[in-house]
Amino acid sequence: MRHLIYIFGDQLSQNLSSLEGFDPQKDCILMAEVLTEATYVKHHKQKIALIFSAMRHFAQSLREKNYSVIYKKLDEKTHLNDFTAVLNDVIQTHQPEKVILTEPSEYRVLEEVKLWQKNSTPIDIRQDHRFLATKAQFNQWANGRKQLRMEYFYRDMRRQYNILMSGDKPIGDQWNFDQENRQPPKAGLDIPQPFSVKPDAITHEVLELVENKFSDHFGSLDQFHMATTRQGALDALDFFIKHNLALFGTYQDAMLMDEPWLYHSHISFYLNCGLLEPLECIQAAEKAYHNDNAPINAVEGFIRQILGWREYIRGIYWHMMPDYTNLNFLNAKNPLPEFYWNAETDMRCLQQSVKQTIDHAYAHHIQRLMVLGNFALLVGIDPKYVNEWFLIVYADAYEWVELPNVSGMALFADGGVLGSKPYAASGAYINKMSNYCKHCVYKVSDKTGPTACPFNYLYWDFLDRNKEVLAKNPRMRLIYQAYHRMSDEKKETIKSSAKSFLNIIFHK
Ligand SMILES: Cc1cc2nc3c(=O)[nH]c(=O)nc-3n(C[C@H](O)[C@H](O)[C@H](O)COP(=O)(O)OP(=O)(O)OC[C@H]3O[C@@H](n4cnc5c(N)ncnc54)[C@H](O)[C@@H]3O)c2cc1C
Ligand code: SF4
Repeated sequence: MRHLIYIFGDQLSQNLSSLEGFDPQKDCILMAEVLTEATYVKHHKQKIALIFSAMRHFAQSLREKNYSVIYKKLDEKTHLNDFTAVLNDVIQTHQPEKVILTEPSEYRVLEEVKLWQKNSTPIDIRQDHRFLATKAQFNQWANGRKQLRMEYFYRDMRRQYNILMSGDKPIGDQWNFDQENRQPPKAGLDIPQPFSVKPDAITHEVLELVENKFSDHFGSLDQFHMATTRQGALDALDFFIKHNLALFGTYQDAMLMDEPWLYHSHISFYLNCGLLEPLECIQAAEKAYHNDNAPINAVEGFIRQILGWREYIRGIYWHMMPDYTNLNFLNAKNPLPEFYWNAETDMRCLQQSVKQTIDHAYAHHIQRLMVLGNFALLVGIDPKYVNEWFLIVYADAYEWVELPNVSGMALFADGGVLGSKPYAASGAYINKMSNYCKHCVYKVSDKTGPTACPFNYLYWDFLDRNKEVLAKNPRMRLIYQAYHRMSDEKKETIKSSAKSFLNIIFHK
């Protein structure tokens, strides 16, 4: 054997850099379902099912091109537990001249891979061209800047890839159309049923394997309906462009009872495992704009998520690792309340967000940020527990994207590297953007006391607890001025409501 190409479960793309120069006569691909990857945290069952089924389908598509593939299934008797053991075994049997791979997306795996450089078989680790900004490019952009704000990075990416540009100006003379986006949900919205794929024989086999081997993992497989092939993922993208894109921006932040999907794209599962590539999603949306199938506010808003946020988040991850994992700027120490696992809470917004996470391994951005993340921020849950939870529960969760979103965006654990101030909000925000409060036992209009929405007093209690570090933040000045204007009596009532509530959820 000449080259052995090792492809990981989140690299399921035939355009992968490690496949450049592949010679079907001389080279071979290695793929393995390894236990350590499925269990280093107890991932949602649907995430494991998606990856293993997509891997099996991907291997099949390579074989259909007459590529030779060594594929190690998890349920084989000779199964080995981790990437290194599998590689060593295959090297011993097949004696390749060289091992080639595309750099892993996560720090943990890269550290493992670096150790292979000590092996006698040479190893070629190639850049991952699926991302649109290289790590070096991001570092160059970031170094020497006082603040790493996504908006400026995004504008550079728009220029670099010539997306929604008219010469050197943004189309519509604005970079960002968010003032037209983010509307509260209207009554009677016609929300399409989500795109779904019926499991085929391969997926059925995997679902059975996951149910047997990972029965103690989070989540349910009952409603698994994800695409597990390249064609399926392209169909999912097409479905979004046709049915949801036009209203994507308008209702991007809206939340509705028993409506997990709304007008979002639901493509992060596919983008993050390689079944879709970012540039093709961006170009599909841009084309919809030029064909008058979607307005600029929706298209720009969607493109910003992928060309801006996704690339920026990945850049921050590699710029800040490995220290990023341990940051805890607000010194939050509390454990994760039990209802994050079972949805058993009277707070309707949290109950809905956790319930759909159990059922679908999915929640949209505002549920993650302004409900689940906001609550964890306000009650001071230790970032290590919050990160672990977010890494476990979502089918799109990989550390490179989960960690900056949780520690940086949701918890302000990085002290302002990613966001200029904490995304902390009271019940008023959730009430404005959803109909959850109408179905809640708590009253969003009450500020303190046993019937009041807990977000209301927890918000002020959070500001009070963290005033030493947050009051200095210029973007927090107005809100602290409002707090200082409150009477001592009111502040005491807030504190006592927060204390009673925290004592209950943390069993003190
Ligand atoms: C606390 C928290 C944790 C998160 N964890 C993850 C995670 O583990 N994996 C993940 O892919 N996203 C994560 N996100 C970002 C975002 O919530 C998801 O990408 C999005 O909800 C996926 O659903 P969608 O495909 O329907 O996205 P849409 O709303 O349709 O957006 C389109 C695409 O834009 C990209 N995108 C949007 N926002 C972000 C963002 N902040 N960071 C990176 N990409 C973004 C995604 O690829 C997404 O598919 C997290 C956000 C928060 C606040
Ligand atoms: S009243 Fe408060 S706890 Fe209840 S749904 Fe609204 S924001 Fe959530």
